Amino acid sequence: MTTTYKTPRYHRMRLILGDQLNLQHHWFEQCDSGTLYVIAELHQEASYTRHHVQKLCAFFAAMAQFATALRANGHDVLHLKLDETRDYADLPDLIQALCSRHGIEHFDFQLADEYRLRQQLREMQLDNAVTVTEFDSEHFLLPEAEFSRFIAAGKHNRMESFYRKMRKRLDLLMDGDQPLGGQWNFDADNRDRLRAPDLTEIPEPLRFDNNVEQILQRLDEGKIDYFGERSEALLWPVDRAQSLQLLEHFCNHCLHRFGRFQDAMTSAHEYRWSLYHSRLSFALNSKMLHPLEVAEAAIQRFKQTDSGISIAQVEGFVRQIIGWREYVRAVYWVNMPGYASLNQLQAKRDLPAYFWDGDTKMECMKQALGQSLEFAYAHHIQRLMITGNFCLLTGIDPGQVDAWYLGVYIDAIEWVEMPNTRGMSQFADNGLIATKPYCAGGNYINKMSDHCKHCHYNVKQKTETGACPFNSLYWHFMVRHRERLERNPRIGMIYRSWDRQQPETQEATIAQANWCLQNLEQL
Ligand code: FAD
Ligand code: SF4
Repeated sequence: MTTTYKTPRYHRMRLILGDQLNLQHHWFEQCDSGTLYVIAELHQEASYTRHHVQKLCAFFAAMAQFATALRANGHDVLHLKLDETRDYADLPDLIQALCSRHGIEHFDFQLADEYRLRQQLREMQLDNAVTVTEFDSEHFLLPEAEFSRFIAAGKHNRMESFYRKMRKRLDLLMDGDQPLGGQWNFDADNRDRLRAPDLTEIPEPLRFDNNVEQILQRLDEGKIDYFGERSEALLWPVDRAQSLQLLEHFCNHCLHRFGRFQDAMTSAHEYRWSLYHSRLSFALNSKMLHPLEVAEAAIQRFKQTDSGISIAQVEGFVRQIIGWREYVRAVYWVNMPGYASLNQLQAKRDLPAYFWDGDTKMECMKQALGQSLEFAYAHHIQRLMITGNFCLLTGIDPGQVDAWYLGVYIDAIEWVEMPNTRGMSQFADNGLIATKPYCAGGNYINKMSDHCKHCHYNVKQKTETGACPFNSLYWHFMVRHRERLERNPRIGMIYRSWDRQQPETQEATIAQANWCLQNLEQL
């Protein structure tokens, strides 16, 4: 194999993966001229699933910035571009070649957060003379060694219990051993829809203008198959300074309404794609930000006397960071690798083409898909109750649903994507995450948004031509999974309501849903 770069000798080589951009890791506390840090754009990572082009650009740009920051701090860094790694079969092949070239005696890596990569690194066969050491990534709040004290494998574990333990453990929003404000969870105070006067106050999202022209060129030259809107100016943060700026922007402009409008959606505003969400998930998942600093920054802002931020808003945010995020990671690791093939509802249909181009008559789907393709981003309730709900009701193969979510979102890494998608949204995991499916008809979407006002379909109708597809599909889903769901105490009443309907209404509803399922591509 030919090389074009110089080959100085090092005794130690350390690998930094694209989602391990943690400048505060103890590795970087001291400089050692005998240590070479390797950051590499890899074909295997750019193509293990079909990614949104902005996701590829964001990771590659952040990796380049990280290499620059390390060099500025006096470390030796080998930053390999896509064209320089093209000739290596995979990551182990590259590492083996670099170890030989630089006379490496010790190879270090941080534990990968994805099962796929962790296995690959653990199974890697290096020359016997090279000692291999795994390190913690020093990012998460719950060490893996403690998972079993919080989460049991193969069982449902309540997020709320997990979250309370984390609150106590980290001593966040606590008043002694009691929750600040007298309640652990203020969800009941949150989750309003946006009314007309609220629309005038939606904050402008902070967007960056990172030039990714050269990265796009490398992707094209490397024949990487991507999708989504291509832009030479990347709006996502690509270094720690930008990530901190986004955090500050969130605390100053969004946190005061974060919980209140967390589930709201609108078609009627330029900033409908961002609303009061933090959009910090990429900065967090690439580890440019630490979850504790994010939670603490929000709490500090809340405590400022002039903040105007209620406990309900800050608690809602802290719960996402120290609760949901850590919880899904633990569920993923204690249940992998089996989790990746769970499909308890035997869903088999293909994902419709509009997931890739946004061309659908359903306004709610058009908005959620359109902004996902435009920005590589949708907020939680769009992912769960619009696109996820649609896939669940129509019985799309969870493997295809997973692949789409893993590719499209800027923050999608399997440890967090899969439990949310296959588990929370598709209910494919035998209830390991959710005790009941997150499914709903058009009523819910109409309650939380103004989409239905702008839609081709009529949300008030169920069986007529032009009726909202979600309405009949909801009942079809409930009826076809009756045996599995009926005994669930949180669902039983829905079947009682179905049983009270006239047989002809039931028949017409199922017939309409069958029509939708047969014409899925045309909806
Ligand atoms: P905010 O609404 O501002 O929330 C703040 C932070 O809380 C997020 O940045 C995130 O770090 C954390 N958070 C909130 N909810 C969750 C959750 N359920 N699980 C884990 N962390 C959470 N999140 C990802 O980071 N990567 C994914 O690939 C991903 N896939 C998802 C797929 C589906 C089907 C669903 C329903 C949710 C998914 N989520 C995923 C969770 C959540 O939707 C995103 O974290 C959030 O929308 C990111 O936007 P934000 O930073 O503006 O979040
Ligand atoms: Fe979505 Fe139905 Fe409302 Fe249209 S009418 S926006 S399809 S919920």
